[in-house]
Order: sequence, then structure tokens, then C-alpha cells
Amino acid sequence: MTLPGYLTIPENTFNARIHAAWERSSPCMLCPRQCMALRKKGELGFCRTGIHPHIASYGPHFGEEGPISGTRGSGTVFFTGCTMGCRFCQNYEISHDRVGQEITVHDLADIFLYLQERGCHNINLVTPTHQVPAILESLRIAIKGGLQIPIVYNTSGYESPGTLSLLEGIIDIYMPDFKFADEETGKNLSCTTNYPRICEEALREMHRQAGDLTLEDGIAIRGLLIRHLVLPGRTSESEKIIKFIAEQISRDTWLNIMDQYRPAGEIRKTCPDGYADMLRRVSDKEFVHVRKVAEKYGLVRGLE
Ligand code: SF4
Repeated sequence: MTLPGYLTIPENTFNARIHAAWERSSPCMLCPRQCMALRKKGELGFCRTGIHPHIASYGPHFGEEGPISGTRGSGTVFFTGCTMGCRFCQNYEISHDRVGQEITVHDLADIFLYLQERGCHNINLVTPTHQVPAILESLRIAIKGGLQIPIVYNTSGYESPGTLSLLEGIIDIYMPDFKFADEETGKNLSCTTNYPRICEEALREMHRQAGDLTLEDGIAIRGLLIRHLVLPGRTSESEKIIKFIAEQISRDTWLNIMDQYRPAGEIRKTCPDGYADMLRRVSDKEFVHVRKVAEKYGLVRGLE
């Protein structure tokens, strides 16, 4: 059995990464927003998250991709808050309304170990970016307690290279979204600046660190798995995203093209001009078209 990367990192290196992560959190530069909030002094940035872990829920999850959920489930931990501001967020209560509770790094370490004891194939950190320092601190505690399953970094793709560099060798599986190919869409729908270029750079770095998705007995142990939620009326952006992944990441990328978009959250009340299609679901025709584009570019891993 291949050991997770974090078991091969020297302790002093791990400790240095934790220290550097805390340094990046106050003034905060953990994500590309670079709010510079003094989070250690109680200031809150865009993500409105303090320095302690804040989680909404945890448990084995069987709805992820086959190599992630496997037969025993993926050990998901849903973190409260988010560095993006998607008007259509499919988990709006967790990301925007901040449903959840603050816990300690020791509690979070216990959750990691509990998920391992339940037989989960991995620890799946959902929306982790703004909580990286606490996550690393908790991992150090859990490793001493016997943690030995891979870590999945399940992210919006809105990541800063400096923070990603602290995760090298610690994160086994990167599972980013690639949401939009047009900057204007990112601005209007997610309150981000320069999302496509930032996401592209993040994906390159994730692939450099972890490579293509590698499986053992059908279960992911390492690598990059990209998710793309097809948005209604925006298949031209899907095409650009697929082209980028095929030509600049790898044709062996595991790409999950998803059709479950529904108009959720704020978009139902305040839909920006020019985005009326976001008030409906994705049509079968749109979804089939995007899958065919992926096939055309040879991105067939992940197309079931
Ligand atoms: S992690 Fe939060 S506080 Fe830090 S830069 Fe990003 S949005 Fe701002």
C-alpha cells in the first residue's frame, strides 16, 4: 500500500510549513483576495472566518466520484465560510450563512481519526483554503495519533500559489473546480477578480505537485481530479476550460463534468443583468454537448 505523502515529510519541515501558514493568516494572504485582515487579532476578511477551525458537518460521504468515495466512503469535513462569493452556491447555508460551529485543532484532529476508524478511504477537506493553518496543525496532531489515509483538498480552484506551496507533499489528492473561463463571469457571479487566470495557475501547480490521478484497486491515492459544473447558457466557457485542461494540464486528467446546477442561494433574488439563464437548470442538450467537447479533446477519464 502506498503511504500518504505527509508520512514521508520530515517533522521539522512539517512544523515549518505550519508556522509559515499561520504567518500568512495574519495579515491574511491565504487566498488570492489578500484581505490582509489581522485574523489573530479578531479581524475578519471576506471569508468572515477567525483562526479556529469552523466546521458545518463531517462524516463518510458516498456521493463523490467513484475513486474518491470507493466502497467505504470519503471522510468529508465541510468547512464553514468561503473565499469566493458565488451567488448560486449550491451549499449557500454553509458558505454564506455560516452554518456550523467553531472547534479546536484537537477536535479537528479527533474528527480526522474518527473518519479513518469508520473505514473512510481518505480525509476530504471541503472548502479548506481559508482554514489551512488550523488544518495543518490538526493534521500534525492526527498523524501522531496514527492517521495514515490520503488527504483530499476539495477546493473552488481560487488558490494562491504561496499557500499551495505549503501543501506540497502533504496533500495527496487535489480536487479543484474550474468554474468560469471568462473573467466577467467570475466578477458578476462570484465576486472574484481574475478567476480564470488564478485558477489556471493553481491547476498547473497542483498538477506539478501531484500529477495525474493515480488509483490503487480502483481507489484514488494521489493526483489531480478536476470538477466542472456546466452552467446554463455558458457552454462556450466550458469549451475553453476543457481546451485548457487538455492542452496545458494533461489529456490524462480525470475530469468530472457535472450537470446538477440548480438556481440556488442569492441568484434567485438578485440575478445580474445578462445572466437570466442562471435561473434555469442545464438542459440535456447543453450537457451532452460539453461531454462531446471533452471527448473530442481526448479527456475521457471521468466520462462514465
Ligand atoms: S482567506 Fe479570508 S481573510 Fe484571508 S485573504 Fe482570503 S478571504 Fe481574505
